[in-house]
Amino acid sequence: MPHTITVLPGDGIGPEVMDVALEVLDAASAKFNFEISRSTHLVGGAALDATNNETPLPKQTIEASEKADAILFGSVGGPKWENLPPDIQPERGALLPLRKHFGLFANLRPGSCLPALTHASPVKNELIPNGFDVLCVRELTGGIYFGEPKGREDHNGDPVAFDTMVYKKSEIENILHVAFKAAMGRDKKLTSVDKANVLATSVLWRETANEIAAHYPEVTMDHLYVDNAAMQMVKRPDSFDVLVTENLFGDILSDEMAMISGSLGMLPSASLGEAKDNGLNFGMYEPSGGSAPDIAGQGIANPIAQILSVSMMLRYSLGETTAADAIDAAVQSAIDSGLRTGDLFTGINGEKKVNTTEMGNAILETL
Ligand code: NAD
Repeated sequence: MPHTITVLPGDGIGPEVMDVALEVLDAASAKFNFEISRSTHLVGGAALDATNNETPLPKQTIEASEKADAILFGSVGGPKWENLPPDIQPERGALLPLRKHFGLFANLRPGSCLPALTHASPVKNELIPNGFDVLCVRELTGGIYFGEPKGREDHNGDPVAFDTMVYKKSEIENILHVAFKAAMGRDKKLTSVDKANVLATSVLWRETANEIAAHYPEVTMDHLYVDNAAMQMVKRPDSFDVLVTENLFGDILSDEMAMISGSLGMLPSASLGEAKDNGLNFGMYEPSGGSAPDIAGQGIANPIAQILSVSMMLRYSLGETTAADAIDAAVQSAIDSGLRTGDLFTGINGEKKVNTTEMGNAILETL
């Protein structure tokens, strides 16, 4: 049976880096003997343009994705659509509804810095001689962003605003299983981040994490308070393997991780739904960055975040781990050989500046 995916290139650099990533996917499928059945659909500004500003998420895009094992997403948005009503703007009108429609409750964002790119990280290089590779697993559909009640009230002329942080045990269990399974496929170390010294939701989080840990005896788990985690992340990022945390903490920590990684153009992300009977999850895979309108159309964007999104898709939704490992290794080899797109180029150590296609070709050759 072929794996079925929908491809949603979107706007800006999305289609440019997607073309290269699909070539890598095709090469991997030929080399590792699996079939991909894929169809391309409109999303974001491209969909607004095609539907006379009716919707950034056409029905056909959702229906095709419902029949797929995964969505490979580019990026959406740009100045052209910024003045449209908020509900139909590309990010709010396409990205968030897709996450909701497919129940994508787990966000996986690797924060990694290859040894050859440590100079691009704002962390002192002597602290990370071999780079680092952390996976942040963030709960995406619960917590304070969605808890009720939330709102504003007038208390005798003194306005009061409130949000509610709420978690069900089942929600915590679901995200912890995702994190433990991810740790099993890596170095088997999991750090659970909470604020159990202050928050009731965090006390439940920590209790639940300790219970779920019993199902994964091979994984070593420790706990960190979120304020300490934020500090340790810049002090010893290379000591972490997988980090799991709730929605608000994960929002902040995963951006801190992206920053210390050095380049947005290197970072993929995955948003996963519930595991199916075969243990794999439906997921949406996309670069961590946006549509980069400042460089779109010039053929100079870094395609690696999109290529590593393909690798995450193969790993978490399609079960093609060997192919995913090979893509990761080919990316590392291109970087080790000194090739750099503009976002990474410093001109030192014999680096060679390349464009989107050249970087893609180097990765394809190694594959
Ligand atoms: P951005 O991530 O698009 O760009 C920030 C900076 O990073 C820019 O200088 C850009 O050139 C650079 N950059 C990003 N990806 C790169 C790559 N692959 N190669 C080289 N350089 C890269 O963020 P922004 O400028 O704040 O947003 C631009 C548009 O993207 C906005 O419309 C925003 O709403 C949208 N956006 C979309 C998503 C998404 O689709 N998931 C996420 C974030 C922002």
